[in-house]
Amino acid sequence: MQYIRSLGKPDNGKCFLCDASSATDDQERAERLVLWQTEHSVVVINCFPYTNGHLLVCPRAHKADFDELSTEEMLDLQTQTAEAIRLLKRAISPQGFNVGINLGRCAGAGVPGHLHQHIVPRWNGDTNFMGVIGEVRVVPEAMSRLYEQLVSLRTTP
Ligand SMILES: [Zn+2]
Repeated sequence: MQYIRSLGKPDNGKCFLCDASSATDDQERAERLVLWQTEHSVVVINCFPYTNGHLLVCPRAHKADFDELSTEEMLDLQTQTAEAIRLLKRAISPQGFNVGINLGRCAGAGVPGHLHQHIVPRWNGDTNFMGVIGEVRVVPEAMSRLYEQLVSLRTTP
């Protein structure tokens, strides 16, 4: 419902990814499921996951399209995507990943004003990627357990 309501809201240049980006302490980061922030990027657990371990990587700035990103922002988006994949491999041993960006509402972007890269872990024989869109299959307790696990794994070498 939260997602459907958000679709009717005008883009006022601020969204939940901006909130994630501006979290300043561990409590705020935990509330907003922010795994980590860099100078240019923020990595969060998707609150509307296609599957367990579905992460989002986005620029900290509220920018909708690639042509608005600086070279540093673009490079860091990919660097943090690689880092997120590495972390998920350690945490939940996926056998594959879908990685990609939906540009614009018609392409399926839930937050079209703020570019974000999806990282969706996959396993042999799991449910078809498109078939699970719109169906939230991960309970909040499982998500906060995953959050704790990923945050603690990231701080251990
Ligand atoms: Zn935003």
